[in-house]
Amino acid sequence: MVVVMQEGSTEEQIQHVIDKLVAMGFDVHRSTGATHTVLGAVGVLTDFDPRHIELLDGVREVVRITQPYKLASRVFRPEGTVVDVGKGVRFGGPEVVVAAGPCAVESAEQVQAIAERVARLGAKLLRGGAFKPRSSPYTFQGLGEQGLKLLRQAADKNGLLVVSEVMDPSQISLMVSYVDVLQVGARNMQNYHLLRALGEVSKPVLLKRGMSATIEELLLSAEYIMAGGNYNVILCERGIRTFETYTRNTLDIAAIPVIKKLSHLPIIADPSHGTGRRDKVSPMARAAVAAGADGLLIEVHHDPEHALSDGAQSLYPDQFAQLMAELRIIAPAVGRRIA
Ligand code: PEP
Ligand code: MN
Repeated sequence: MVVVMQEGSTEEQIQHVIDKLVAMGFDVHRSTGATHTVLGAVGVLTDFDPRHIELLDGVREVVRITQPYKLASRVFRPEGTVVDVGKGVRFGGPEVVVAAGPCAVESAEQVQAIAERVARLGAKLLRGGAFKPRSSPYTFQGLGEQGLKLLRQAADKNGLLVVSEVMDPSQISLMVSYVDVLQVGARNMQNYHLLRALGEVSKPVLLKRGMSATIEELLLSAEYIMAGGNYNVILCERGIRTFETYTRNTLDIAAIPVIKKLSHLPIIADPSHGTGRRDKVSPMARAAVAAGADGLLIEVHHDPEHALSDGAQSLYPDQFAQLMAELRIIAPAVGRRIA
């Protein structure tokens, strides 16, 4: 349930409504919009008469949210959420934000070479895994903390922010000292212990859609994080499993406008994992921006033939340069801009 307060309702009135809701057994989440305050009341009450709240001073209306996700629903924040990840970089605003970098951090030289190129071309975040969720236990698993250090150093040197994947709640305390955005990978989208733990963190979370997850399941996973009090969630469409085998996954571009309608959270696209093929990354990146994506997550490698993971889907820096130039033409056509 969402309680929409009247424009100009006083702090006292708002607090009174919050107290009432809490006394009824609800968890209350407050969203202060440009014109009015919205209170999200979540809980498992069965017999509740909304008139008890509707008639309180300062209340405009009480809206029952019929979807199973509440705080992630657009009703909670009709104007949309802008997630500020630091240094003035915002997901969900007019700018389409690009995060680029290698699949995995491999060495100081590698991550520095890539960071320098993507920063110059307009990326705002450096991506790279230090803890890698690999399908096979015999492949490169990432450099761990050393990888985080290298990522941070390369990012700082080039004026970038850092996004990297957290695989387990036990890694959170280590990771928050190195990264600006905590990524939850597709394989962990329904790791509810991890999601709950991230609800208690003050850093933004990039939540990827599971490869067999519906849009509703993705939004319910976001709800887990938000229910813990962390509203800074960025969603990511990264392709789903279908019967098609030509591409690694099927990038569900339609999920972008669908999620825009259902939720207030920013949604970005990852055409690298979404296609698995370098030659298909740029066309899908262009499509995602045209469809309204708030950002992109793109794998770029200076020497993809020798990459320790996902070389085949990593763009050469020159291809990334070309893509950024194209996006600078597409973004304004859909009312956005790009660095
Ligand atoms: C990644 O972005 O590094 C990654 C492992 O992606 P996904 O979780 O989407 O497979
Ligand atoms: Mn990868």
